[in-house]
Amino acid sequence: MTLDNGYFSTTIPLSTAKATTPGVQSDVPVATLPTPLKRVVSGAALKELLAGSAGQPKTPSHGDAEFRDYTHYELPRDLVTIKNTVIMHLSATFLRTPSSIDSAHAYLASAFAVRDRLLQRWNLTNEYHDRINAKRIYYMSLEFLIGRTFDNALLALNLREEYSKVLGKVGFKLEDIIDEERDAALGNGGLGRLAACYVDSMACKDYPGWGYGLRYKYGMFQQQIINGYQVEAPDCWLDTPNPWEFPRPDVTYPVKFYGHLVHDPTNPRRFKWESDVVYDAMAFDVPVPGYGTKNVGNIRLWSCKTNHLFDLNKFNSGDYAGATGGQVAAQVLTDVLYPNDNTNEGKELRLRQEYLFCSATLQDIIARFKKTGKPWVEMPDLVAIQLNDTHPTLGVPELMRILIDEEGLEWDAAWDITKRVFAFTNHTILPEAMEKWPVPMLDKILPRHMGIIYDINLFFLQEVEKLYPNDRDLLRRISVIEESNPQQVRMAYLACVGSHKVNGVAAIHSDIIKQTIFSDFVKVQGEDKFINKTNGVSPRRWMNECNPAMSALITEVVGDSSWINELTKIKAIEAKVDDADFRERWWAAKQQAKAHLAEYILSTTGIKVNPNALFDIQVKRIHEYKRQFMNILSVIHRYGQLKKMSAEERAKQLHRVVIFAGKAASGYWVAKQVIKLINSVAEVINNDEEIGDVLKVVFIPDYSVTAAESIIPASDISQHISTAGTEASGTSNMKFCLNGGIILGTVDGANIEIGEEVGEENIFFFGCLAHEVEDFRHYLRFHQPKPDEALQAAFDLIQAGTFGEAHIFQPLIDSILRGGDVYLLSVDFPSYIQAHQAVEEAYRDHDEWITKSILNVARMSKFSSDRSIQEYAEEVWNIEPLPVDNSKV
Ligand SMILES: *Cc1c(COP(=O)(O)O)cnc(C)c1O
Repeated sequence: MTLDNGYFSTTIPLSTAKATTPGVQSDVPVATLPTPLKRVVSGAALKELLAGSAGQPKTPSHGDAEFRDYTHYELPRDLVTIKNTVIMHLSATFLRTPSSIDSAHAYLASAFAVRDRLLQRWNLTNEYHDRINAKRIYYMSLEFLIGRTFDNALLALNLREEYSKVLGKVGFKLEDIIDEERDAALGNGGLGRLAACYVDSMACKDYPGWGYGLRYKYGMFQQQIINGYQVEAPDCWLDTPNPWEFPRPDVTYPVKFYGHLVHDPTNPRRFKWESDVVYDAMAFDVPVPGYGTKNVGNIRLWSCKTNHLFDLNKFNSGDYAGATGGQVAAQVLTDVLYPNDNTNEGKELRLRQEYLFCSATLQDIIARFKKTGKPWVEMPDLVAIQLNDTHPTLGVPELMRILIDEEGLEWDAAWDITKRVFAFTNHTILPEAMEKWPVPMLDKILPRHMGIIYDINLFFLQEVEKLYPNDRDLLRRISVIEESNPQQVRMAYLACVGSHKVNGVAAIHSDIIKQTIFSDFVKVQGEDKFINKTNGVSPRRWMNECNPAMSALITEVVGDSSWINELTKIKAIEAKVDDADFRERWWAAKQQAKAHLAEYILSTTGIKVNPNALFDIQVKRIHEYKRQFMNILSVIHRYGQLKKMSAEERAKQLHRVVIFAGKAASGYWVAKQVIKLINSVAEVINNDEEIGDVLKVVFIPDYSVTAAESIIPASDISQHISTAGTEASGTSNMKFCLNGGIILGTVDGANIEIGEEVGEENIFFFGCLAHEVEDFRHYLRFHQPKPDEALQAAFDLIQAGTFGEAHIFQPLIDSILRGGDVYLLSVDFPSYIQAHQAVEEAYRDHDEWITKSILNVARMSKFSSDRSIQEYAEEVWNIEPLPVDNSKV
């Protein structure tokens, strides 16, 4: 046995450093090392090898009866126990005493006390699902926009009152304690929030569901507004202890990169991947409290683990800092969330992030499956994996690699399993969002996966060829590899080929993808594979938690709080639509939310707004397709009109507060200019004494889940005004309607289905239709748009320098006048202005408006994420609810 592989001689794990000290080296079973590893080293892999037990699951030991009894005992819910648990954590976990408590530690101690209960239920849930070999659904998403957990957990456990009382006794208000928590902002926008709502629904509806994601050290950046411009600051959310994650150093997997392939002489499709760079991915578990059920879900987030990377040679030669040099490279992999929404970044680091995520997740899922001892053909009976967009698509070749190269399956068997396990959700058809990876990059970083992708594509194209002989153009169009220079892997096609079901996220979007990016696939693979699953949102967070006044009213009408998990029951409030007392209290709840938002606006921006004005809100990522620019142009136009009026006439106008919030990707210049324009317009209008309270414009900085929870309940009107055909679904449209706000929107995404549910008279539609967009765009490519009078008036005001130096904003105007007006602002502007007038007229009819507001909520039950999850469970995952039964554990 020699140690000449260049791995032991340069870098070894700290934990096994002793093994290489002179004299004991011969004990190391080097012969079992599969690969000469060079620079970066995997601690866990090595530990396993040294122990000679790679991949062997330990036999579970259940302990004696008394011990098991104890683990099944639930903490009592009385105030004394709660107080004692909080004090115990205060002193034992945080080294504080009740006399030195501040609100930060009151939060932490309370959160840890609540966490104890969740972890106990979490253990029972997983023991139970293991025991009965439940089929699990794994929701793979590179983003989870979770927000806060404390209040959510208190409500789920029905302990809010109790904690409020206990904290009251030590002199704290629960609301202030809740405000100590930082958001887990591991996502950009709708896609990441959808993942969070879906794991919430899985937990609440008793499905054995797990989320898988990455534990970014820096989540979505914090947005500051300085001189009207967006300035990004890092989101150091882990600087304070995080009660809502549980580190699992025992759950760590090696993830390989680079290297070369060695052919297996016994099988033409089997390779040995000899890699020279290996990182460790370590699990952190985030409990997902199920409301009103013992079921606790889990989000398993991977972090690149670095403690075991240590260069002993450098250390011994006195280079103490250099000895940990490998850590830097490893850490960067899970350091930051890419801040792009609906835009593909295409960076090599992002690709490595995606692979680390996919490899660790698939290894973990497979390890869990292998514990059941079932044959591989039964894997699809126990495992369903949903790909949230194309970001986790490398999971497909990764599963193939593990099954073929490591588990010894034949290609056809492995491919059959893979297709039955995976399903894929498409989220967009925006060309700039389509993930494509250059073949040379993939080949360098993941040589084995590139080979597998080539083979997947080859066999797929052979099938296509059989069905449509001699159609060379079809083969070129449908190929997973785009024949560009360099060649590119089309990830959406790979995800489609590797899945048994593909879905869009709203009816219109699911139709569009069948007619556009997947039209050839529909022809070749049949229509049945392509289905619709309209998005939904969690009524726990987006009603019960964020809008206590309205929720209490609904609970009263329904008779109990069961509607929170069975949203169809809110239909009951429709019968109350003419009840004067109910209507009055409904309006009072809305006013309360508006007053709360007015305070929030004052504290975050210093702007004073009148809660009796119409609150007109557009909050979402800043993106050209979402058309915040069109919104602010309409505000400018309105300002121009008001300035032309006499004082008497102005006094008769409806008062309006126009509220914006949202982040722009840090590299998205146009979006950042729109933020600057909004702030510049706000500055002028809000300080114009002639205007006063008739019109206010607010940009609330640092939009987040927590900010949304204050903003959304307060809307009278909310705007969802994407160019038709561009917003796949939208989910904040649902959140607003579920809180009694009415939509001003285009005929796009889920707006359409919302309109079908609430009735045309309870929503304000405008703008061109999706099927007309192509023709308008074509026309505008060759003709200058002719702005109508209103749009021209807005341009004139900007160009006159009304809102500061005109040249700053000229590129925005040019994007319409000279850039082809890709998002059709000039086309939709006239009908947009008309829709605004319709809104004003409707709002003046106070009684009618309350009716609209009540009916909006009463008829929105379709948009609960519980409904979405139930449809996925039945039509995609083939799983059933399994309420946790302790007695069977
Ligand atoms: C719901 C939500 C979104 C999605 O908003 P859309 O208007 O559907 O794009 C984005 N960010 C946050 C914080 C959300 O809560």
